[in-house]
Amino acid sequence: MEFESILLPGVDAKRPWIIAGPCSAETEEQVMETARGLAARGIKIFRAGIWKPRTKPGGFEGIGAKGLPWLQRVQSELGMYTAVEVATAKHVRECLAHNVDILWIGARTTANPFAVQEIADALEGIDIPVLIKNPVNPDLDLWIGAIERVYNAGIRRMAAIHRGFSTFDKKIYRNLPQWHIPIELHRQLPNIPIICDPSHIGGKRELIAPLCQQAMDLNFDGLIVESHCNPDKAWSDAAQQVTPDVLEFILNTLVIRDTTQTTENLSALRRQIDELDDNLLELLAKRMRVSIEIGQYKKEHSMPILQAQRYDEILQNRIAQAEKMGMAGDFMKSVLVAIHEESVRQQMEVMKQT
Ligand code: PEP
Ligand code: MN
Repeated sequence: MEFESILLPGVDAKRPWIIAGPCSAETEEQVMETARGLAARGIKIFRAGIWKPRTKPGGFEGIGAKGLPWLQRVQSELGMYTAVEVATAKHVRECLAHNVDILWIGARTTANPFAVQEIADALEGIDIPVLIKNPVNPDLDLWIGAIERVYNAGIRRMAAIHRGFSTFDKKIYRNLPQWHIPIELHRQLPNIPIICDPSHIGGKRELIAPLCQQAMDLNFDGLIVESHCNPDKAWSDAAQQVTPDVLEFILNTLVIRDTTQTTENLSALRRQIDELDDNLLELLAKRMRVSIEIGQYKKEHSMPILQAQRYDEILQNRIAQAEKMGMAGDFMKSVLVAIHEESVRQQMEVMKQT
């Protein structure tokens, strides 16, 4: 797939290009006040959810088409471009009827090929930039599939939005970044721009700045950040929205490293390694926690710690699997032996406790 490199005149000349605006358009006043604050700080693309897909019913489901004329005021009075999420063919038609400049497909929609195809069909023959958020589940093929469906409708001005992946275990992030997935997307589709959505990854204000910096360090092209004139009173996603003023501060503190030097490429690779090692450690710690639970079970049922047959099966299977994945069997054996040793040590601690 070959994408056009310029999405809209005047916005994407240098990294990062910024899309900002409220999670949801709520009232005409809130839209105009937020947009004025953003325009005054040089933001050129205004986002606002008009139809909101909510995980559970009862949340604010969006103001609907009556908010679209407010966005036309943002265009005509402030000279900003507007971006709206579409989830159905009807949304596409209503946005086009109100001259929305950019459409985006939300994470819940990207996860559904029928819905994406319906949107793609409605876009046939129309030239408008379309941004595709990753699906809620960490499935790169599903993300690429959505990009392909829209591409096949003739759309060439596209970008991917990385907004993190749903997890049951919401500790730090609302949606786990799993940076290796957008990195792999970039490897497979090197010329689609990638934008990071730190608001939906982080789910809380404090995480926006560090996530923006990480995205820049990983060479993302742009950022889409939720900004609201009065974040605490937002009708949706209040905890993750920032005022235009705070957004300006965050953007001013970003360090944008030059991507053309080879040393920068090297440090981008090293940051990938750091990220992967973090993931490895996290996984190992998780494995140990499960193993402690097994230890508790064994203790309650008076079972011995060492279950030789199970250990042997684990070794054989994993070694064969590692070899299939291009790693030496001996190497995998030493890794597994070391992990097993630590697991046994932790289970012995459990046995000792009274
Ligand atoms: C949004 O951008 O407000 C939104 C609903 O995001 P996502 O589709 O990433 O959940
Ligand atoms: Mn939101």
